Amino acid sequence: MARYTGPVCRLCRREGTKLFLKGSRCYSDKCGVVRRAYAPGQHGQGRKKVTEYGVQLREKQKARRIYGVLEAQFRLYFAKAAREKGITGERLLQLLELRLDNVIFRANFGESRPQSRQLVRHGHFTVNGSRVNIPSYLVKEGDVIEIAQKSRSMSVFADVAETLRARRAAPWISVEPDALRVTIIGLPKREDIDIPVREHLIVERYSR
Ligand code: SF4
Repeated sequence: MARYTGPVCRLCRREGTKLFLKGSRCYSDKCGVVRRAYAPGQHGQGRKKVTEYGVQLREKQKARRIYGVLEAQFRLYFAKAAREKGITGERLLQLLELRLDNVIFRANFGESRPQSRQLVRHGHFTVNGSRVNIPSYLVKEGDVIEIAQKSRSMSVFADVAETLRARRAAPWISVEPDALRVTIIGLPKREDIDIPVREHLIVERYSR
């Protein structure tokens, strides 16, 4: 599946908030939003009148960019969420949270979602014992995800056990640091999803 390959700090500046796409840099003074707190481009510092449509569009774009999903795939998530039982906006966020690359990030195997996506693409994880290299793979309750045996000696995972011990994973993920393994123990609830998105505006945007 295709992905955005342009400058990512520009995306945060467009949304006017940190989307945390670059790992440790996002927490430093080098963060693009800190250094240039205005929208990118020639007219980024001009005054803008934001319409209702514009507000809805920004919420949708923010969600897409946080999870690294292009428009066509995002629409598929929305269509799936709308078909299923429950509140469409919440189900949409739940589906996005259940993507394997997001789970790797939420479990603290990766520093950011883009890095986690790359780790998945390179085949470093197994789900229930089988290697999965599809970032959009949707995990289920009860799934066991671990670093593939052949990848465990790689430098990128040198301190991963310590990181898993030191950082708190999402409450719906149970972590076994020594085994380099996590288990999905439930589905993410809205209060577990700490992203700055008003999902009802996304629903309004697609319901026009
Ligand atoms: Fe966004 Fe991180 Fe870049 Fe800051 S450093 S603008 S949070 S990607």
